[in-house]
Amino acid sequence: MTDTFVIVGGDAAGMAAASKARREDSDLEIVVFEKGEWVSYGACGLPYYVKGEIQSLEALVSVTPQEFREERDIDLRTGHEVVAIDPDERTVTAESDDGDVVQPYDHLLLATGAESVVPPIGGVDLEGVYTLGSMSDGKELREYVARARSDESFQQPDRGPACRYLEDCTGPVAVVGGGYIGIEMAEALAANDFEVHLFQRGDRVLKGFSEATSEAVAAHLRDQDVTLYLGSEVRELAGSGASDDSEGRSPSSNRTQSDDAGEVGAVVTETERVPVDMVLLGTGVRPRTALAENAGLEIGPTGAIATDAYRETSAPDVYAAGDCAEATHVVTGEPTYAPLALTANRHGRAVGQTVTGTPSEGGGVAGTAAVKAFDVEAARTGIIDPDEARKAGFDPVSETITAKSRAGYYPEGGDVTVTLTADRDSGRVLGASLVSEYGEGAVHRSHAVVGALEAGATVFELENYDLAYAPPFNTTWDPVLVAAKVLG
Ligand code: FAD
Repeated sequence: MTDTFVIVGGDAAGMAAASKARREDSDLEIVVFEKGEWVSYGACGLPYYVKGEIQSLEALVSVTPQEFREERDIDLRTGHEVVAIDPDERTVTAESDDGDVVQPYDHLLLATGAESVVPPIGGVDLEGVYTLGSMSDGKELREYVARARSDESFQQPDRGPACRYLEDCTGPVAVVGGGYIGIEMAEALAANDFEVHLFQRGDRVLKGFSEATSEAVAAHLRDQDVTLYLGSEVRELAGSGASDDSEGRSPSSNRTQSDDAGEVGAVVTETERVPVDMVLLGTGVRPRTALAENAGLEIGPTGAIATDAYRETSAPDVYAAGDCAEATHVVTGEPTYAPLALTANRHGRAVGQTVTGTPSEGGGVAGTAAVKAFDVEAARTGIIDPDEARKAGFDPVSETITAKSRAGYYPEGGDVTVTLTADRDSGRVLGASLVSEYGEGAVHRSHAVVGALEAGATVFELENYDLAYAPPFNTTWDPVLVAAKVLG
């Protein structure tokens, strides 16, 4: 009898596992339950869909349900939400419009992803408050943009202080959260002529990057007429009917007027009340662990599902991969939570290989991430935060350098700023954060540092890495090598 491999969640981790398992074993029965209608989609492209650079949601799909079913012989069941796992009986229970299904498994993968965090403040249920975590969120946001742009009542150049930058602005709108989704959405909304107000609780945007990167990105956002409110915790979202004459008043005095009914009208912080027509909450994600928790699976210190190096959970033959699960940090060797697309794909693929007889780890993670903010690009990898480094037992030392992105005599080019962090005693490279104009290579340069992190290399070794050089791409000593020399 053939084994049955059941997968919960039909996106990056789940479909990578299904596809790899099918390639390795043509007889295996593979059943995928996906609660939504979309599978194998690139949520990473959603900000560009909302922006209008990508014309259809279908364009974000790598492999269609039909292709999975007909070409890869995968029993893909969309519209099926798994509501329970029984690790003793080795079954999952799924609900659908056609009734419940109890499906036995020999191997089970949880690839349930992450969900958007909605902060516990008043007004989050008001109309006009959005998150961007799913294809349907993207659809709703794009529809909002289309409505707003075509509705003349949104074209109000004379809205007073909130509309002080753009002559024919639409909006204003708020982005809450200065992480990468918040920043990508600020760009998407500004590109559609919305006047964008970005609120960040901490004192800088992109807090996982270096201060130099955060400052460069913040300066560029301001240049692009995004109004930044740093160190501004949003206390509540007020309804459009709520009083707007509260300048200098404590936000709590308006709390009763922001009942969760009607449309959003303002963002209220400790010191400000900013009128807006729409709010995008980019306040982080949390792993979807309810199924695992209810089945008694171990949750790790990061709050995600705990796994071993092969992504096997505390229950035998039950695996977890992608945004719902922990991974191992390449620098510390400790569990970490890095909800990113490549990790989901790699670890899903590794599980597909493991369950078909070739145990596979799928590698660690360095938290390598990139973001485009209008005409600037930024990347980070490894450990940058000194407190995080000290907690992991290192004595961190950092240098920030700014160097030319291409040969000085070459007609194009700009600057690249690199912050490189190493351990003082051993010289081991711990992490880096880079920023440049878009197209000047901050992101691709970070990959040299990723190589150093994976190898456990020192700055002295990194300094001698044999990187490519030609005038249109860099200087003889690439900025990453310059940073290593300065730090070494
Ligand atoms: P998901 O993609 O979340 O998929 C999980 C699936 O499981 C979902 O389809 C869900 O419907 C389904 N599901 C959940 N529970 C159940 C259940 N009980 N039963 C059945 N089905 C269930 N990452 C990057 O590396 N770079 C980027 O630039 C980037 N940009 C992003 C931009 C946005 C706007 C978003 C939202 C994410 C971005 N990411 C980015 C993150 C990246 O999309 C995720 O890391 C990746 O999608 C994780 O894949 P996954 O399969 O683990 O989870």
